[in-house]
Amino acid sequence: MSPEHIPFNRPYQSPDEVAYVTEAQRQRHLCGDGPFTKRSQQWIEDQTGCAKALLTHSCTSALELAALLLDVRSGDEIIMPSYTFVSTANAFVLRGAVPVFVDIREDTLNLDETLIEAALTPRTRAIVPVHYAGVACEMDAITAIAERHDLKIVEDAAQGVMANYRGRPLGAIGELGTFSFHETKNVTCGEGGSLLVNDPELVERAEIIREKGTDRSRFYRGEVDKYTWQDLGSSLLPSEITAAFLMAQLEQAKEITQGRLAAWRRYHEMLAPLEQQGLFRRPHVPRECGHNGHMYYIVLAPEIDRGEVLAELKRQQIGAVFHYVPLHTSPAGQRFGRAHGDLQLTTSLSQRLIRLPMWHGLGEAQQQRVVEVLGRFLRR
Ligand SMILES: *Cc1c(COP(=O)(O)O)cnc(C)c1O
Repeated sequence: MSPEHIPFNRPYQSPDEVAYVTEAQRQRHLCGDGPFTKRSQQWIEDQTGCAKALLTHSCTSALELAALLLDVRSGDEIIMPSYTFVSTANAFVLRGAVPVFVDIREDTLNLDETLIEAALTPRTRAIVPVHYAGVACEMDAITAIAERHDLKIVEDAAQGVMANYRGRPLGAIGELGTFSFHETKNVTCGEGGSLLVNDPELVERAEIIREKGTDRSRFYRGEVDKYTWQDLGSSLLPSEITAAFLMAQLEQAKEITQGRLAAWRRYHEMLAPLEQQGLFRRPHVPRECGHNGHMYYIVLAPEIDRGEVLAELKRQQIGAVFHYVPLHTSPAGQRFGRAHGDLQLTTSLSQRLIRLPMWHGLGEAQQQRVVEVLGRFLRR
């Protein structure tokens, strides 16, 4: 008999998704910025304290909106890790900017704040910290650097919904922040995202860019008597069908986070003995970071062949995966970006990392099996 399949990810199902979508249908308001969009945005504003939350099609489109909003242009340089998803870089490359890749910290795999200043040039415009695994970057240090050099901060908080840094919600610390509601993230509507605007002066223009460059948002609020083309823009808002689904998930965000954190803590305890044997190391969460159980990963000892471990987990029906191929080593990253230094930790850690199955509802017995399979294979 083949063992039970344990998927890598299983999207949470809220009890109200279908009812809310049905309600949107009944209201006959299906295009964007209807009641469910407003409720979802209000929820994000209440939860994070951002000046304005704007739903988008994805975190990718929220990042693109951020780049437009900051008037990023040809030749500008943007500081970011190479160990991230392609959209972090693409959003700025689309504006003609150059991603400058800075190495990551060994403990959190987040942008190493101590290396940022040496990477700055007169063309640097912004820093894009990526909160990997929902664990915050060292935002006090990064904010101080940005202030010293008059740079903007766009937090890629795609993985950071419901997580915080010294009690401050991720996404609400820089001038701008972005969330992802992709199926693989904690809170999901399939494909979705949000821009968090923390600088009140950017709110009005963010609304205009998101609404095809028009002042339609002001028109709906009755502030102008017709809406017209005002600025650059695109169509970045999701439909009410998507927003209705998302609202049902947001209402469960606390429950989702608690369930994931419980599973995260169980792994952490179960894997401690194997870490003590020097086979891998477990994730590190600094004291000042309140994380959200987005991911559980291990970093294998350098002499262990990751491909063999992943193959064994697959044979045993366990959905474990590697993560980012560093952007500075990819064809487009080499064409569009610039590496600051040798990025040695980015290269080494990315080749040794394995993400284990993680979702709300992942059971203790399933986790026990993951740990047993890992232990048996690594100790062989
Ligand atoms: C998932 C993710 C994105 C992209 O999110 P989408 O909503 O799929 O566009 C961007 N950055 C990071 C760090 C992510 O994890």
